[in-house]
Amino acid sequence: MFSDELKQYDWDETTSRIAAKTARDVEAALGKETALSVDDFMALISPAARPYLEQMARKSRRITRERFGKTISMYIPLYVSNACTNHCVYCGFNHSNPLQRVTLTQEQVKAECEAIRRLGPFENLLIVSGEFPALNGPDYLEQVLHTARPYFHNLTVEVMPLKQRDYERLAASGLNGVVCFQETYHREAYNQYHPRGMKSIFDWRVNGFDRMGAAGLHKIGMGVLIGLEDWRTDVTMMARHLLYLRKHYWRTRFSVNFPRMCPAEGGYQPKVVMTDAELAQLTFAFRLFDNDVDISYSTRESPAFRANMMQLGVTSMSAGSKTEPGGYVSTPDALEQFEVTDSRTPLQVAAEIAALGYEPVWKDWDRRYDG
Ligand code: SF4
Repeated sequence: MFSDELKQYDWDETTSRIAAKTARDVEAALGKETALSVDDFMALISPAARPYLEQMARKSRRITRERFGKTISMYIPLYVSNACTNHCVYCGFNHSNPLQRVTLTQEQVKAECEAIRRLGPFENLLIVSGEFPALNGPDYLEQVLHTARPYFHNLTVEVMPLKQRDYERLAASGLNGVVCFQETYHREAYNQYHPRGMKSIFDWRVNGFDRMGAAGLHKIGMGVLIGLEDWRTDVTMMARHLLYLRKHYWRTRFSVNFPRMCPAEGGYQPKVVMTDAELAQLTFAFRLFDNDVDISYSTRESPAFRANMMQLGVTSMSAGSKTEPGGYVSTPDALEQFEVTDSRTPLQVAAEIAALGYEPVWKDWDRRYDG
C-alpha cells in the first residue's frame, strides 16, 4: 500500500530539496530525453525553473503532440448528490453548512443525462457525489450507472473512496474509471482540513488508489487541491504516488488534475495562491515527467488560459459544467460546489478547439471494451 511508501518521505526535507534546486539542475532535467526522475521533476517545478518556462513549454508541446496528437478529450460532470457527512473546511458541501441537500432520483438522473446529450455529443461522463453512504453509497451509484449507461459510453465516478469489492461491483455495472483527489499529502494538515467523518482517515483515502488498481479499473484520475499546502511539495508527493501506481498497476491509464481552490460557502480562503504562470510550469513539468499521463483542466480555469494550455500539454477538458445536482435540467436552489469560470457552451468550446487546429474528441472509449 502506498501509505507504507509515503512514510519514507519527509515533508520538510522534500520542501527544502525543491527550494535548493539550481539552474544547473533544471538544465540537466531539460536535457534528458529518457524518463525523468522525481528529482528532475522537483527541479522543473522549483523557483529555479521560472526562467526556463518557454523551453519547458516547447518540450511539453512536442511530447504531447507525439503521444496524443492534436486532440482534446471532452467530458462533462454530472453532480448527482450534495449530501455529505464530511466536514472538509474548504468545501461548500461541508455537512455543517445549512444548505438544501439534493440527491437525484433515477428519474432525475435520466433527465439530466438527456439534458447533457442536448448540450453536445458527450460520451465521457464524470458522475460526482458527496459522501453520505446511506444516501449515495455503492447501491445508489450502481443504480446511477445503470441509468446513465444507455446515454454514455464512458462512465467515471468522483465519489467517496470505496472498498475494492465495491469498485469491482461497479465495474461490472459499467464503471470505467475513478477520479479521487488526495487533497493534500501533508498528513497533519490533512487531519485539520478533514476533522470528522470518513474522510478524516488519511490512510483509507490514500490507499484507495491501490484498491482501484487492484480492482482493475481502466483509468484512475488523481490530484491535490492547490491552495491547501505548499503546492510544490504536494505535487512532488503526488508524482511519487503516480510512479508507485504505474509500477503496481501498469495496465491502468492515469490522469492528473490540479484544481486551484476558490473561496467556498462558509468563507474559506485558500492558504496558498497559485498564479497562471505557476500552473503552466506545473503542467509542463508533469508532461515532461510522465509523457503519457492525461492532463485535465476543468471549467474552473478561464477560457483564455485553457486555450493556451490545450496547445502546450493539456489533453482533456470539461465544458458546459454545472456543479450542482439537477443543474442541467433547471436552475435549482442547490448550491454549486465551485464557481465555473469558463461558462461557454460545449459547442462554443469545441469550436474554439477546432479553430486552433485541434480535434475535440467526444468519444474515445466504447462500452463494448468494458469486458
Ligand atoms: S469535498 Fe467532498 S467529501 Fe468534502 S465536504 Fe465537499 S463534497 Fe463532502
